[in-house]
Amino acid sequence: MPRIPRPTREAILAALPELAPHAREAVIFHPERAEPGRRDSSLGGPLLWPRDEPWPVCSLPDENSPDGVPGTAMVPVAQLFRRDAPGPWWPAGIDLLQILWCPNEHWDPPAPQADISPVVEMRWRRAADVTDPLSAPPPPSRYDEDGYLPRACALTAEHVTDFPFREELPAELRPRLAELVRETGDGGDAITRLAGWKLGGWPTWHLTHPAVLACDACGTTMTLLFTVASDDETGVIVGRWGDLRLFTCPADYRHPFQVDLH
Ligand SMILES: [Zn+2]
Ligand SMILES: [Zn+2]
Repeated sequence: MPRIPRPTREAILAALPELAPHAREAVIFHPERAEPGRRDSSLGGPLLWPRDEPWPVCSLPDENSPDGVPGTAMVPVAQLFRRDAPGPWWPAGIDLLQILWCPNEHWDPPAPQADISPVVEMRWRRAADVTDPLSAPPPPSRYDEDGYLPRACALTAEHVTDFPFREELPAELRPRLAELVRETGDGGDAITRLAGWKLGGWPTWHLTHPAVLACDACGTTMTLLFTVASDDETGVIVGRWGDLRLFTCPADYRHPFQVDLH
């Protein structure tokens, strides 16, 4: 994926200092086809999974099985070790984030899943707790399309400062942000629309109006944890070459996540 020519954080804030309170750390992951190990950060690679913990299975209805039977094993989407992507999104004591999904299209899955989308699972772990890892997970018994079977990739992590989409900013800032966007990048919005696989940062809302997602457990406004991108390297295609986003509760990482397809 070509990197976006983007001004530095300092240059952006020099041009528009009022953006400073809205800055959020993020890590963009640049995938490259590889054979990562289970102790590596990866997209679509093997997970460091405790042998005695059941592998997630999806039994929701999908295009190939209207009754969701038999349940099909989920597939790894991302495994991220804290050492490779440090940032404020890590709960205390946790150093491993794993994201999986059922590689089938689900038209109307229950909340918090997105419609017409794979069904997502995630785990936060302490890597040291996995003393007896699973050697090979069960393969999915069915899948709709290759776009939901991420090819194993190693990652290069790029730390960036992300800024919110214009409609999430105070109205008086928007014209100046629009001007800054016009003056920078390669014709796209390199300030508030960072493309790619991303941990943390802000969601873009360039296709729909911004949505405020409230935590089902405590009502706190959810924040973006992870963005699954569509790209040639992993072969992942979500939506119409879009993004699938996982939102989590900043008050308690154990509260249920929510998924949005954009
Ligand atoms: Zn499923
Ligand atoms: Zn909550």
